Amino acid sequence: MVKRHFSNSIANIKLDVLVKNLKEIKNRMPGKKILAVVKCDAYSHGAVKISGAIEEEVDWLAVAHIDEGIELRMAGIKIPILVFGVPTYETAAAYQTHNLTATVSHDSHFSILMDGTFYHLNFDTGMGRLGFRPENASKVRDLAIANQRLICSGIYSHYATADDPGSEFVTIQNQRFINILSHFPEVPFVHMSNTGAIVNYGEINHFDMVRTGLGMLGYNSGNTQYEWLNPVLTWKTKIVQVRPIVKGDTVSYSSTWRAPENGYLATLPVGYGDGLPRSLSNKLKVLINSKLYQQVGNVTMDMLMVFLEDDKLAVDSEVTLLGEGAWDASKWAIHAGTNVHEILTNLTDRITYQY
Ligand SMILES: *Cc1c(COP(=O)(O)O)cnc(C)c1O
Repeated sequence: MVKRHFSNSIANIKLDVLVKNLKEIKNRMPGKKILAVVKCDAYSHGAVKISGAIEEEVDWLAVAHIDEGIELRMAGIKIPILVFGVPTYETAAAYQTHNLTATVSHDSHFSILMDGTFYHLNFDTGMGRLGFRPENASKVRDLAIANQRLICSGIYSHYATADDPGSEFVTIQNQRFINILSHFPEVPFVHMSNTGAIVNYGEINHFDMVRTGLGMLGYNSGNTQYEWLNPVLTWKTKIVQVRPIVKGDTVSYSSTWRAPENGYLATLPVGYGDGLPRSLSNKLKVLINSKLYQQVGNVTMDMLMVFLEDDKLAVDSEVTLLGEGAWDASKWAIHAGTNVHEILTNLTDRITYQY
């Protein structure tokens, strides 16, 4: 992306709020180690900045792809980094060179990885994505013993339904994992809980370590929100044009909105190309001078329009799009028909991030 030197679209990332969210999570998970998930550029919050700010607060970091781990090592991050993705012959050497912990989730990985590489075993207890099946636990243990050229430093699984409270499947997966663990009594780091499990299922077994991505950024992953978590990111822009609109005038592609009365219309310099979902068209409300205004017409790639009613606001007035008194990312997610993770990861580098 082109670096914007004249940006009027700023995401403010509050690192003190991030650290406070982590402290709140730790208070609720006494004695547990913390793994911070910073994949996908820390859900667009900037993986290097976020990791640097929490290196002292957490025990582990995790990323999805090996390149994301290499980026953190190049930036000087020293604590252990787990890669969730699948190791290949192409990437095997990089795990060693950059001291990244691999995920072993298939028999073939034992032969792909290079001597001395650290790894965590991944078991599929019901997510259906990656991992060994529970009935193979004893066979996997034999493979681990036969491959002592590699170093097993952890074992994990992942919940499919922890985002929402009251799911029986969480208990079922938890018990399946406990059964698997009886085959691996000596593995140091055992972890399964994501943000949903941490915030919605305080009472289940959280093993040695819990993983949080969304939680430390201030959100629950499901529809239940907790006031002890506070969003780290606020996205603001400025009005670039204000003009009168006459009752009956239509706005934007496909003319989906028609002015119900005379008034003023503001144009903002952000659109779906910046990560503001087009599916929020005619739904989103934005905050200007402490008042919520309706976004109107289809959101376009680079711009969107807001109906100001009778308020003839000035060009350059500050507009809060996301967070801090405007709608937060969970409200965006509900109205856009998606989850908070997708809302955040869709925010692009067209936005200028300030810390
Ligand atoms: C993304 C991911 C997480 C983090 O999930 P949150 O809901 O953001 O806490 C944890 N574990 C695994 C395996 C993941 O892929």
